[in-house]
Amino acid sequence: MAESVIDLQSVNKWYGEFHVLRNINLSVKKGERIVICGPSGSGKSTMIRCINRLEEHQKGHIIVDGTELTNDLKNIDAIRREVGMVFQHFNLFPHLTVLENLTLGPIWVLKKPKAEAEETAMKYLNRVRIPEQANKFPGQLSGGQQQRVAIARSLCMNPKIMLFDEPTSALDPEMVKEVLDVMIGLAQEGGMTMLCVTHEMGFARKVADRVIFMDRGEIIEQNTPDEFFSNPQNERTQLFLSQIL
Ligand code: ADP
Ligand code: MG
Repeated sequence: MAESVIDLQSVNKWYGEFHVLRNINLSVKKGERIVICGPSGSGKSTMIRCINRLEEHQKGHIIVDGTELTNDLKNIDAIRREVGMVFQHFNLFPHLTVLENLTLGPIWVLKKPKAEAEETAMKYLNRVRIPEQANKFPGQLSGGQQQRVAIARSLCMNPKIMLFDEPTSALDPEMVKEVLDVMIGLAQEGGMTMLCVTHEMGFARKVADRVIFMDRGEIIEQNTPDEFFSNPQNERTQLFLSQIL
C-alpha cells in the first residue's frame, strides 16, 4: 500500500459553539486526486483549510507528510512549504506584476536567486498558457487568467500537495474551462497529490481517484467517481446530485 501523505484522524472543529467538523477521518495517498463536494456550509472549506493550518482544529490529529499539525510554528511553517493552495478569489497581490507575484515566495521564502525564480515563473506561466501576461498587473487580466496565475504561483513553490477551494466558482462561465483544463493537465501529469473542492462533476469524472461527499460537517460517503455518480448510497448524496446534475 502506498504511504499516505495526509491523514486526518477523528478531527473535530468548532467555531464557538458551532460544531463545524465532526469526526473527520481521511487518509490521502501520495499522488491521489480527490474531489470534495457537498452543500454550501457543509464544512468543505474548513476541512481543507485545516490541512495547512489556515484554520485550527480542536480535537483529533492532522498529519501532513509525516508531520503533525500542532501549535508548533516550526511544523506549520514546514507544512505550508509543502502545501499549495488556490482559492475561489485568486488572492493575488494587486500591486505586483504577474511575474512579481510568482517570484515573491521563491525569493523570500525559498531564498532562490531572482534569475532562477524568474526562470521557474516563466516555465509555469507557459504551462498555464499565459507567458505574455508576465509584466501585467492582476487587475489587467480576466478572471480566468488571474486564476491561472494563482495556480502557477502555487506551483512555483514546488509543493507536494495542492489544495483547491472552488477555484472556478467565481468565474464567468466562459472562463471555467480554461482553468479546468490547466487543473486537468496537472492531474493527468501525475505525481501531485490534489484535493479539490469543486462542483465541476466533469472534472471529477475525468481525473478524480475518489469523490468525497460532505454534509453538516461529516464525510457522508466516498467512492470512485463512477460509483459515486451512478450509484450514490446515502439519500443526502442522492438529493445533492439530483440538484446539481
Ligand atoms: P463550505 O465550504 O462547505 O461551504 P465552510 O467550511 O465555509 O463550508 O463553512 C461551514 C460552516 O461553518 C458554515 O455554516 C459557515 O457559516 C461556518 N463558518 C465558516 N467560517 C466560519 C468562521 N470563521 N466563524 C464562524 N463560522 C464559520
Ligand atoms: Mg467553501
